[in-house]
Amino acid sequence: MKWLTNIWEWLISLFGKERKFRYVKAEELPDDLEANTVYLLGEAEYLWSAVMICPCGCNATLHMNLLSDAKPQWTATIHDDRTLTLHPSVWRKIGCRSHFIVRRGRIIWCNEEI
Ligand SMILES: [Zn+2]
Repeated sequence: MKWLTNIWEWLISLFGKERKFRYVKAEELPDDLEANTVYLLGEAEYLWSAVMICPCGCNATLHMNLLSDAKPQWTATIHDDRTLTLHPSVWRKIGCRSHFIVRRGRIIWCNEEI
């Protein structure tokens, strides 16, 4: 049955390479942010901010406002499979200028033609 274990490990390693973001709900932002994680800051169902480390690798911390009375505003949708979608796209005007969409935990780049 060794071969079965090998195939399983190979599948896991493939899966691990995929840049899939998970989300964590928190009342306060931790000091050390983990990569591939979107932090949803708020209390219970009341969320005010989504924070993540830029997926391009530049290590910048990105803050997305989720409150409807401030602009710009993003919407965080949590799906049944515990993945997260952010709407609209995130577009950094400074630094790395990354432009991407977080859809069901996956990063979809919008500026790959540059
Ligand atoms: Zn970046």
